[in-house]
Amino acid sequence: MWWEKMWSDMGQKLKTLAQVLCVLEMIASLILAIITWSVRVPEEIYSYWNDTAQQASTFWPGLLTLVIGCLLSWVGSWILYGFGLIVERAENGYSLSDKGLRLPDGGVMPAIWSTWTCKKCKTENPQSRSVCLNCGEIKSKK
Ligand SMILES: [Zn+2]
Repeated sequence: MWWEKMWSDMGQKLKTLAQVLCVLEMIASLILAIITWSVRVPEEIYSYWNDTAQQASTFWPGLLTLVIGCLLSWVGSWILYGFGLIVERAENGYSLSDKGLRLPDGGVMPAIWSTWTCKKCKTENPQSRSVCLNCGEIKSKK
């Protein structure tokens, strides 16, 4: 159905969202910096600083706003982008189960909490054991 498309490729969507938000936040910090630069410091204040050029008084605060704003939006986007990557992996067939990490090719990377079943007596043995706890049968490769 058409609405299912709205939530398909969520990993890719999250990655794009991270990039769009990052650019928007950078534009926002630029606007904030321009506003800071355009602020006219009242004469009675800047005369105290003995500042001859009025523009100079807002130059550094404005630049700081721009640099810190861009840096924060960039670093902030990593979290969402990284989350998008994880979701993308999950969509491509990686999933966690009680046996371990299921791979796209159908294989399973065994987890420490997973067990293996003895061919002979059907006993569930921990993955760390190479022989059956019950009958001593050697763990088979497959
Ligand atoms: Zn056994």
